[in-house]
Amino acid sequence: MARVELDHVWKRFGSFAAVRDVDLRIADGEFVVLVGPSGCGKTTTLRMIAGLEDITEGEIRIDGAVVNDLPPKDRDVAMVFQSYALYPHLNVFDNMAFSLKMRRFPDGKGASAKLPRTEVERRVRSAAKLLGIEDQLSKKPGQLSGGQRQRVALGRAIVRNPKVFLFDEPLSNLDAKLRVAMRAELAKLHRRLKSTMVYVTHDQAEAMTLGDRVVVMDKGLVQQVDDPQTLYDRPRNQFVAGFIGSPAMNFLEASVVEADGGVFLDFGGFRLRVPADLAAVARQHVGETVVFGIRPEDLHDRNFAKLMQPDATVTARVEVREAMGSDLFLYATVGGLTIHARVNPATKVEVGQAFDVHFDLTKMHLFDRSTGLAII
Ligand code: ATP
Repeated sequence: MARVELDHVWKRFGSFAAVRDVDLRIADGEFVVLVGPSGCGKTTTLRMIAGLEDITEGEIRIDGAVVNDLPPKDRDVAMVFQSYALYPHLNVFDNMAFSLKMRRFPDGKGASAKLPRTEVERRVRSAAKLLGIEDQLSKKPGQLSGGQRQRVALGRAIVRNPKVFLFDEPLSNLDAKLRVAMRAELAKLHRRLKSTMVYVTHDQAEAMTLGDRVVVMDKGLVQQVDDPQTLYDRPRNQFVAGFIGSPAMNFLEASVVEADGGVFLDFGGFRLRVPADLAAVARQHVGETVVFGIRPEDLHDRNFAKLMQPDATVTARVEVREAMGSDLFLYATVGGLTIHARVNPATKVEVGQAFDVHFDLTKMHLFDRSTGLAII
């Protein structure tokens, strides 16, 4: 087990900065997920931790020791990739044992030695048991399902008993159902092994369910590092707000105005009253155009709204209706703007019909239009 620290780490490919000034402290035993859109620099960051990519600037430490110039094999990290890269001619046991048989380990007397065969066998059997593939050990990879192959790839990392596990989109070759199942197994595995794990994905659902903390990246920069609920409730900027949560948050431009002794957001075709406890902050932006954000689940059919706030209900017209059984998604227009709402499935409204949508403004967000930073 180990701490992983990144100190102002940069990676440049020629003049292009793929990773910019990443500063990150990963605690012993923590599961940290790097998430962001394609090209945001997450894989490059992971590869720098692994030692597969040089660091242009900054410092990476594992358990306090600077590893910048240490080759991957000396960092005591194990990486699991999207492609399992198993040896097709070796059976599961030998695939898992391969790196153990090849490597030399410190023998405690200042020299190094190969692991005894009994120890290799013990480690492989124990990892196979943990992963539920004990009865597959004599099979070749070609005889396994995708999920079983990914388990073997995980097993190959586990037997090494590394200080840090690094995962690069390990589930993206699996079908949707298997991904969800393997996601739960990875979470269980982390609870049992209690190892430090760093996991890269572009899938925010994977990030939210697996991470003790999630690092959201965009354009080589860390946008926010927080636990999943904080990221969801209090995104630092519009990028994080739009990236985390599915379906994505609605963003609508509004001007902040004062009226009737309160603060309102004026959308042109309609107005919403900022709740009293948020009004003081909003008042500082009177006269400005801001970006208002509200999640689809915070827009309700007024007939099902639990608490009604004043000046927070408007009539919208349904353009698209998607009934998912557990949820009803409505794309609707209101005052010339389009909103996406996730409403109670008992809502009775058809395409082309009007319904009263209640904005739960206690959950509203406001962002600065030019910087994207959160105001509320
Ligand atoms: P993805 O999910 O698509 O893998 P990512 O967030 O992991 O994306 P990286 O693979 O880290 O992104 O790449 C970050 C940026 O650096 C991209 O713009 C990519 O094109 C660029 N890049 C990565 N490797 C190299 C390289 N060897 N040479 C030049 N540019 C590179």
